[in-house]
Amino acid sequence: MAFPLRKLELRPLGNTGLRLSCVGFGASPLGNVFGPVLENDAISSVREAFRLGINFFDTSPYYGGTLSEKMLGKALKALGVPRNEYVVSTKCGRYAEGFDFSAERVTRSIDESLGRLQLDYVDILQCHDIEFGSLDQIVNETIPALQKLKESGKIRFIGITGLPLGIFTYVLDRVPPGTVDVILSYCHYSINDSTLEDLLPYLKSKGVGVISASPLSMGLLTDNGPPEWHPASLELKSACKAAAACCKEKGKNISKLAMQYSLSNKEISSVLVGMNSVRQVEENIAAATELALFGKDQEGLSEVEAILKPVKSQTWPSGIQ
Ligand code: NAD
Repeated sequence: MAFPLRKLELRPLGNTGLRLSCVGFGASPLGNVFGPVLENDAISSVREAFRLGINFFDTSPYYGGTLSEKMLGKALKALGVPRNEYVVSTKCGRYAEGFDFSAERVTRSIDESLGRLQLDYVDILQCHDIEFGSLDQIVNETIPALQKLKESGKIRFIGITGLPLGIFTYVLDRVPPGTVDVILSYCHYSINDSTLEDLLPYLKSKGVGVISASPLSMGLLTDNGPPEWHPASLELKSACKAAAACCKEKGKNISKLAMQYSLSNKEISSVLVGMNSVRQVEENIAAATELALFGKDQEGLSEVEAILKPVKSQTWPSGIQ
């Protein structure tokens, strides 16, 4: 490690009063979504993350068909620290069996999640990938059901997640102010696609906290490349591969550049990166530390941006077409 690791910056999350570590721990890899992970590695990754200042952990019943929630629950329990020292978000409405955003299902879902996570409450419950459901059902049925869960104390805040950015304005324009506390966007604030940026002033005006996930574009911006199931076009995959190779040739690491790119915008409360090893935790925290100390590697970034220019903002379809 080139520089000593130091505690991470905390950033406010909209109007929630929560302060999230700027690097958040995405626990989808703990559900074996990016390849198999041993339980011991999962537990030690979470321990190292917490030790180095990560206080925000995100999962879903969908990741690995509930495996991610179970692993994260074990790992958090093994930390043995007071519950108010970390923030946990999970999701509802998307399951290995399919989508169900009905009030009945999401109300049952939180009890199942709390059992697997071994927690009494989660800080944030998010409707997972709402573009696959009816947005009017989300507005009129799912979110009101989540408000009841808020009143019951099982959840503290309500969020929505998904890929197409238009889903956020659709819902936020139709719910009473202050109903949706948080949005989680993914693959829209990384070197190859930063279209979330245009939405930030709107989200701020609504008082909604912003979590940006997948700074490595779900593996595109890594030396190992994306998993089999990655939905990007071949053109986007090969451009990212070329960018990673160019970095490597120059003794640079594309994942570090990508982390620093996403972390640079302080309107984003937490950059949620999926991690499955102590090494990845340390690398991503070092990226944040070095950014705070020295700023972005503008030269390296400009080179990568030039390679990715032909595919800039290229995305893929998600949801009901
Ligand atoms: P990501 O961009 O964070 O990439 C994760 C991949 O990069 C994994 O294979 C991981 O092992 C690898 N990686 C991590 N650090 C690395 C490093 N330093 N060097 C090399 N490789 C590294 O994508 P993600 O995991 O999909 O997104 C992060 C998290 O955000 C998820 O775990 C999940 O919690 C959340 N998320 C939510 C949604 C949603 O709600 N719809 C969608 C995507 C992601």
